[in-house]
Amino acid sequence: MLAPVHEVPAFISGPKRHLINGQWVDAASGRQIDVVNPATGEVISQIAAGDATDIDRAVAAARRAFEGEWSRWTPHQRRKLLLKVHDVVLDNFEELATIETLDMGAPLQRTRGLAEWTSQVLQFFASQCDVATASTPPNSLPGNFLTLKHLAPVGVVGGVIPWNGPLIGLWWIFGPALATGCTAVLKPAEDASLSVLRIAELLTEAGVPDGVINVVTGYGAEAGQALSEHRDVDRLAFTGSVGTARSIVRASATNFKRLQLELGGKSPDIVFADADLDKAVPGAAMGVYTNSGQVCVAGSRILVQRPIYDEFVARIGEFTKTVRVGDGLDPNTQLGPLINQRQLDRVQQYIQIGGTEGAELVTGGNRLDHLGPGYFLEPTIFADATNTMTIAREEIFGPVASVIPFDDVEDALRIANDTEYGLAGGVWTRDLSTAHNVSRGIQAGTIWVNCYGVLDPSIGFGGYKMSGYGWKGAKEHVESYLYPKAVYINLD
Ligand code: NAD
Repeated sequence: MLAPVHEVPAFISGPKRHLINGQWVDAASGRQIDVVNPATGEVISQIAAGDATDIDRAVAAARRAFEGEWSRWTPHQRRKLLLKVHDVVLDNFEELATIETLDMGAPLQRTRGLAEWTSQVLQFFASQCDVATASTPPNSLPGNFLTLKHLAPVGVVGGVIPWNGPLIGLWWIFGPALATGCTAVLKPAEDASLSVLRIAELLTEAGVPDGVINVVTGYGAEAGQALSEHRDVDRLAFTGSVGTARSIVRASATNFKRLQLELGGKSPDIVFADADLDKAVPGAAMGVYTNSGQVCVAGSRILVQRPIYDEFVARIGEFTKTVRVGDGLDPNTQLGPLINQRQLDRVQQYIQIGGTEGAELVTGGNRLDHLGPGYFLEPTIFADATNTMTIAREEIFGPVASVIPFDDVEDALRIANDTEYGLAGGVWTRDLSTAHNVSRGIQAGTIWVNCYGVLDPSIGFGGYKMSGYGWKGAKEHVESYLYPKAVYINLD
């Protein structure tokens, strides 16, 4: 396949380093990790393989910064800084979008489209710099007491994020840290760190003081584990798999650090017989396929009411065949490759299991060999799936949907909630009471009605059950970077 013509940012080439205390430094061990473009299988760069020594240095720098000059910055100064960061990042967004596409495969259509969202998220966090206001509640103490309640920044915040969207994921940590006066050490995923490293350069350019934001790249079992065990990290925000979350929860016991966990999902997207299928078919399909299915909120169990089941399956099958898969640098591409060979093998294994367990493969299922050595897979639909099948129970993290029939609202909710996850859900109907009853009945942190996947940072989203805890976005997110402190003043 001919590579699409597109300018490759100069930033990509050459080995990358950690950002610690405002300096770009090699891994203490000197080791590096190859960066592979998932659309071609080619090595395009290297990142530093950080370990506990690098994490120690970064945490120490973050601690010094937290206790230094940065602690005296006023809300107005932090707001100005966040707005400056906004401008610098937006001015360089075309480069950032291209880096993200080359690094993790998402098409330019998607990565470029994140500019508006990035603008919103940065403006939102800039608007939150005053949230740590003190209050003076009345008290019932004998004598003459003044009581104050402050919200103080928690301190050094660790972040561990996955490869499926670092260009978005890092702002959920850097945004509230900068808004509240915390400092941060971020460990991006070994499969996709480049956009984070370029943004770290831009943060320095925008005037973020040394040590306030640090980035250590490397493997989860080394750098990630060291960060989650570190006794001088006060809070850790994690997005990724349930298995890793378990080891992070255990590691957090070293100092009882506060946690925020956003994990997997097996979200139900429920289509009622009265739904507008012109919207529900593409909406539900892209609710699974977006980012090649590598999205935590993917609506991968599509529940369809029996009277329209056959029609829906036929239409989603036809729609699926129109989705353009290819190199993300091609502006016409809608779905890029999966992140790596391991993920491709894993998803193909699920497709095989789906067939073996008796689901009907409507369309898809094959690796797209004609696109070259990249990790391309056809978007895939299984019909006649039941909720007990492996493909309906486990998070596949690929462009694979299971279409499951249901009878009525009660049946839909029974199936929807028969999962260990609780991240998101969708409902497609023209009936107001059905919309309300179903959105109230689905046990998940985020519900979409007649749409799927939209997200406003000032409203946010969160998980329930095994999908984790801790709200992302809105005031709750900012407040979780603060801790309450009461002051009792005896005025006599
Ligand atoms: P993962 O949980 O292994 O990796 C996520 C992040 O955690 C990476 O930065 C990784 O380096 C780090 N990590 C790994 N082991 C660690 C440890 N012991 N201590 C601290 N950090 C550690 O997830 P993955 O391998 O990237 O993907 C596997 C599965 O996770 C996916 O198939 C999917 O089911 C799920 N996932 C969910 C999301 C989401 O947004 N909810 C994102 C990515 C992956």
